[in-house]
Amino acid sequence: MARLGQYLDENPLNWLKTPYNEIMATQKKLDQTYMKMAEELSQLSYANRKKVGCLIVKDTQIISEGYNGTPKGFSNECEYRNYVDEEYTKPEVLHAESNAITKIARSTNSSNGATLYVTLAPCFECSKLIIQSGIKRVMYKDTYRDHGIDLLKAAKIQVHCIEDYDPDDYEEEFKGSHYKGSFNPRG
Ligand SMILES: [Zn+2]
Repeated sequence: MARLGQYLDENPLNWLKTPYNEIMATQKKLDQTYMKMAEELSQLSYANRKKVGCLIVKDTQIISEGYNGTPKGFSNECEYRNYVDEEYTKPEVLHAESNAITKIARSTNSSNGATLYVTLAPCFECSKLIIQSGIKRVMYKDTYRDHGIDLLKAAKIQVHCIEDYDPDDYEEEFKGSHYKGSFNPRG
């Protein structure tokens, strides 16, 4: 593991910039805070099965949020029962990520270079939308099926489970980056 402050020493001009270890500490705190907010948002979902919350952040500003639910104008109920009384999710239900991304389509914001926080690992369908919307970093909390994550990684998106993301991972991810007023070094 590289010594903290190492990148600061390498270039004498770096004293003008925020020390590397401060970037990591602040980013970690922000990641945890945004994930807590996504968890709160998930509680707004009407779904009986899984309640999922999502937040999209760009340049330290929340540009969108969403939770899983039916499209505008439809009944809030997310499940239906079949003839043997088994509960299923209605096909029209949008996942939290899809809701958050499509909300940006209705706004003047751009998701290009943004970070997406979601309480459940993205599915394959949502991962396609994440890639096409230009999101560069994904933090998730609970694991789902891995297919979506594999797709995101194949598209060179930084994707991490917040639970097992430790300081060494931050160091790796933010190597050589310096805080310039935006916690989005690649944006
Ligand atoms: Zn999904």
